[in-house]
Amino acid sequence: MKVLSVTSECVPLVKTGGLADVAGALPAALAGHGVEMRTILPGYPAVMAAQGQGPVLREIADLFGGPARILRGMLDGTVLYVLDAPHLYGRDGTPYLGPDGKDWPDNPQRFAALDRAAALIAAEGIEGWRPQILHLHDWQAGLTPVYLRQLGVRDVRSLLTIHNIAFQGLAPAHLLGALQLPAHLFNPQGFEYWGRISALKAGIVFADKVSTVSPTYAEELLTPEFGMGMQGVLAGRAGDFTGILNGIDLDVWQPPFDKPAGKVPLRRALRAEFGLPEAAGPLCVVISRLTGQKGLDLLLEALPVLLDCGGQLAVLGSGDAGLEAAFRDAAARHPGVALRIGYDEDLAHRMIAGGDAILVPSRFEPCGLTQLYGLRFGTLPVVSLTGGLADTVINASAAGVAAGVATGLQFHPVDAPALSRALRRLCALWQQPKLWQRMVRNAMAQPVGWDASAQTYADLFRTMTD
Ligand code: ADP
Repeated sequence: MKVLSVTSECVPLVKTGGLADVAGALPAALAGHGVEMRTILPGYPAVMAAQGQGPVLREIADLFGGPARILRGMLDGTVLYVLDAPHLYGRDGTPYLGPDGKDWPDNPQRFAALDRAAALIAAEGIEGWRPQILHLHDWQAGLTPVYLRQLGVRDVRSLLTIHNIAFQGLAPAHLLGALQLPAHLFNPQGFEYWGRISALKAGIVFADKVSTVSPTYAEELLTPEFGMGMQGVLAGRAGDFTGILNGIDLDVWQPPFDKPAGKVPLRRALRAEFGLPEAAGPLCVVISRLTGQKGLDLLLEALPVLLDCGGQLAVLGSGDAGLEAAFRDAAARHPGVALRIGYDEDLAHRMIAGGDAILVPSRFEPCGLTQLYGLRFGTLPVVSLTGGLADTVINASAAGVAAGVATGLQFHPVDAPALSRALRRLCALWQQPKLWQRMVRNAMAQPVGWDASAQTYADLFRTMTD
């Protein structure tokens, strides 16, 4: 089975969120299931520096305003196609934002170019290799099925995976021509969304199958509360729409201990690193983008409960200026709170390893990865009951404890009083070391790798080509 993954980010080359982890991990995970997955990625400066030396496989004279080339790279044993288009990608900043923190004004063209190149590969093949399926990630890959149609490609299927419905790839209607999109599909049954082009909607409507990254998020996306305007469009594809849980890379997230006691020196080191004193309560960690989605304003409200029971909080994140300031203020006022603003993979590992609990109070969470890291390291997740958080944590309710299966805490509704109750319960559990250690062992034993989901993707790909 030959699959081309079309993605705007991919670890270890470029990452702003969980999408990059998934795109990076799937090729290796699927290899054991009879699927050869190759990847096409834009040639941002970091990608060119690491993978830009390979042979030129295809030249495109004019790709939305300039010449482009497809180069061959190799990433962890899988083939990578780098779309080198300096007029679109050769600039500093993140994949989506300029140095001023605003979306690149030509984002519609930048990702339409990725989609166009992927459709060309599907149409013509590349170096003698032609995919049977395109695996499209988020709105950045959403226009691909439209270009496939335009190029008359009928024998290549497509799967769109939605990692976060909040990002919909909207563009003004006057770009129809510039993006080389067929005007006859610009209507509410096609890729028009209230007068604008929606790349995400294009993917939902025209891909053969649609998936998202957890079963609960798949259900939630069909509701007005979570669907963010796409619930009706998704309902129209309900028969072709499923949720497949993300896994994590077990080699990258490998605890250096196998018993709960192994955490003790790591916790001590983490406290020292954050300048936190020894304490009677659990050391809680947060590793997150600081945005409204992540519900961390609720944590600021609930913080007194944690501090009152001797608990501590170490936060690593960056994002919203107001939230950064609020956490800075909390760290200044409370000796039990410490903060690092920034993005730091190594520190994230040390926090997951040394923390006792990881807090993920998201308002919505398609899958979430940090709670999975937490489970793997026996860092008990305290999560809101939504999306993938609902699917991956077993709540320490009276029943969960009695059955001996609990791995963390879930709270609902997603508000500060419910989070406060969960933190109070966390502290009560901390006072019962036997029970806590049982939960740590349960958490560490939970399978959070890619095995099961890789099989599910492989099965889905097979049904698509039958
Ligand atoms: P999202 O994709 O919505 O940001 P996920 O939980 O799915 O949320 O994935 C976030 C990923 O980014 C995780 O791998 C997490 O460890 C990582 N991450 C987020 N913020 C930081 C940070 N400040 N430093 C290091 N890693 C971070």
